[in-house]
Amino acid sequence: MIRIAIIGGGISGLAAAFALEESRRAGVIEYTLYESSPQLGGVLRTEHIDGCVVEAGPDSFISEKPWAADLCRTLGLGDQLIGSNDADRKTYILVRGRLIPMPDGLMFMVPTKILPTGFSPLFSWGTKLRMAGELFHPPHSANGDESVASMVDRHYGPEMVDRLADPLLSGVYGGEASNLSVRAVLPRFAEMERNHGSLGRAMLAARKKMRAAASKPTPPLFTSLKNGMQQLVETLVPRLNQTSLLTNTAVQSIQAEGGAWHITAGAQSAGFDGVIVALPANAAAKLLSSCSPDLSAELSGIGYSSSITVVLAYDRRVRQSLPAGFGFLVPRSEGKQLLAATFVHNKFPHRAPEDRALLRCFFAGSNAEKVWQLSGDAIIAIVRNELQQILGLRAVPSFARVYKWKAAMAQYGVGHLERLDRMARLRAQLPGLALAGNGYRGIGVPDCIRSGQDAAKEILTVRTSSPASQTA
Ligand SMILES: Cc1cc2nc3c(=O)[nH]c(=O)nc-3n(C[C@H](O)[C@H](O)[C@H](O)COP(=O)(O)OP(=O)(O)OC[C@H]3O[C@@H](n4cnc5c(N)ncnc54)[C@H](O)[C@@H]3O)c2cc1C
Repeated sequence: MIRIAIIGGGISGLAAAFALEESRRAGVIEYTLYESSPQLGGVLRTEHIDGCVVEAGPDSFISEKPWAADLCRTLGLGDQLIGSNDADRKTYILVRGRLIPMPDGLMFMVPTKILPTGFSPLFSWGTKLRMAGELFHPPHSANGDESVASMVDRHYGPEMVDRLADPLLSGVYGGEASNLSVRAVLPRFAEMERNHGSLGRAMLAARKKMRAAASKPTPPLFTSLKNGMQQLVETLVPRLNQTSLLTNTAVQSIQAEGGAWHITAGAQSAGFDGVIVALPANAAAKLLSSCSPDLSAELSGIGYSSSITVVLAYDRRVRQSLPAGFGFLVPRSEGKQLLAATFVHNKFPHRAPEDRALLRCFFAGSNAEKVWQLSGDAIIAIVRNELQQILGLRAVPSFARVYKWKAAMAQYGVGHLERLDRMARLRAQLPGLALAGNGYRGIGVPDCIRSGQDAAKEILTVRTSSPASQTA
């Protein structure tokens, strides 16, 4: 019998465990999943308050990446999947204190429709001229990696970095465009630049192809579950072998010895043939420091930022007074603490009764650090003050909740992909070790699920074809 340890019971570790279940039932392997907290699911956490579905962590996943929706369907949750209300998909950017809608046809920051962008007050005339000139941008022979800010600046200038690239990315990574790798975070853009030079021309060509092939309706941009993201965890966990799941059990060390792995958690130590470390990379670095100081150093080099979500509910009058659309983003140059707010009742109408407004506000990176030590009430006061400045919202919320996530969002810095290559070479010297989680090839829930499934496959392949499987 092959013994596999999974460390971390977030969605990455749970996806790995679920992918091992078939082999466990067939008697080929057994696994033990270690989770330090009392609860499985990691940052996937939903509360149900006064008829509202309140997401503490992720609220949805991008529909384009299939792994999360596929897992939901495998678990029998297909009829629970909901799409974002894209008919109401408008996002505003705060510019000099005013909310300006992002113009139609903007693909991330690349304009694909001339008129809406040309007439939009979101950009100065200088930036609009740069957009027109960008169509003649020469092909760029990529000499290694660069930051997203640097690439966007080369194409469209600093205003585009401040007003769009930075706010859009801080909503996903909780980090700044000047610290994020274009090759890791926007690989499609790096490729478009390589092939076409101009991002605008590349996007227009891609749209033309898509239109020609479009026979089916486009799926919603975001997908989620009717009862919230925790529904995925609550459906998945009962499908796992319950005696394999150790909650309240923090792993303190991993030792490798003669092809075997020794896991120490509390006073207990156990031996395994393989180990899947499904933790944020910085936590993985600590556990692997004695097995491979070099791998540990690489893992420590993957930065993480903290984030805070604040959810507030209001009555019908507030709902009627708020703008249509999914919410707004706040460029750092506006000098606010908030980075973004989602109008949940518009984005996912099933999540709030019709007579309620539900707002989800977001702090991350240095903005989250600044308020981290404050009490929940003090953070709510900051949010309310900024909502008053931005939306004119003075009403008292019927409830408010604050959720803090310490170092939970990975920052793929410049050179991230090269780091992953070095890590792959180091891991090749440690057969039986696999890594899963948001620190490597995608921060979102679908990528984390895929990473867990791939890690399970890798361990099964290595261990079922190695001598360990014959001697166990
Ligand atoms: C506020 C927020 C909003 C987000 N929004 C979205 C979104 O809308 N859409 C989207 O796709 N993605 C979103 N993400 C990203 C996505 O949710 C995460 O990247 C993903 O859920 C991470 O899953 P994970 O299992 O890799 O890590 P985690 O969820 O961090 O799980 C790791 C687990 O390991 C445990 N652990 C840590 N140390 C040990 C140890 N020593 N021993 C045992 N266990 C340990 C932890 O307790 C935790 O349960 C968001 C993230 C955050 C924080």
